[in-house]
Amino acid sequence: MTDFAKLRERMVERQIAARGIRDPMLLDAFRQVPREEFVAPAHAAQAYGDHPLPIEAGQTISQPYIVALMIEAAGIKPGDRVLEVGAGSGYAAAVMSQIADQVIAVERKPELVAVATERLRRLGYDNVAILEGDGTRGCPDGAPYDAILAAASGSHVPQPLVDQLAPGGRLVMPVGRQAWVQKLVKLTKLPDGEVERESLGEVRFVPLIGEEGWKDAG
Ligand code: SAH
Repeated sequence: MTDFAKLRERMVERQIAARGIRDPMLLDAFRQVPREEFVAPAHAAQAYGDHPLPIEAGQTISQPYIVALMIEAAGIKPGDRVLEVGAGSGYAAAVMSQIADQVIAVERKPELVAVATERLRRLGYDNVAILEGDGTRGCPDGAPYDAILAAASGSHVPQPLVDQLAPGGRLVMPVGRQAWVQKLVKLTKLPDGEVERESLGEVRFVPLIGEEGWKDAG
C-alpha cells in the first residue's frame, strides 16, 4: 500500500516549504487535501510527484508548487470569496477552500465538471461550487471576488475578470503565447479602482479557451 500521508507531508516540505512558501495556513491546506483522490486511479502513485499530471479531457492537474505559488501570490485569506477559472480536477479549488470562505470554480469541459463535482461532494468540500461555462467571462453572479486565479493561459487578462475583482482584490494568471512558456502576472485592484500589474516569473500552462481566450482547436 502506498503511504499517501507520508508522500503528502514530503511534498509539503520538499516541494513547497523548501522553495520559500512559509505561510502555515497555506502549508496546512496542502496537508489536508488528498491529492491522490484528484487523479485517475492509474496515476495515484505519482500524485505527489514534483510535476503536473494528465487528467480527463486531455487536461492537466498543475504541479503542486505552482498551485502554492499562485495561491500565495493571490494572498488568499480567511473570509475571501475566490473565483478560479479552469477547475480541472478540482484540486486547486479544494486547497483554496481550506483557507477562503467560498470558492467558485468555472470549467469549460463538461466531463471535468462532472468528475470534479462528484469528487468534491464525496470528499466533503461544501464551500466549493464547480460551474460549467466560459471562465473568460468570469462569473458575474458571484462577483465581486477578493481573489481570481486562472489555471490556463491566455494572450491577455480578460477584462470581465478585472471588472469582477473587488477593490483590494488580486488576480493571478499566466499570460503569453500558447504552447510556449508564459509569464505569471499578478494584478491588484487598488481601493480607487486603479489596477497595478507585476510579473512573477515563467510558467507553462494549458491554453485558456473562450471568448476572451484562444479559439478552440477542436
Ligand atoms: N486547477 C486545475 C488545473 C486545471 S488545467 C486543477 O487543480 O486540476 C486548466 C483547466 O482550464 C482545464 O481543465 C481546461 O479545460 C480549463 N479551461 C480552459 N479554458 C477555460 C475557460 N475559458 N473557462 C473555464 N475553464 C477553462
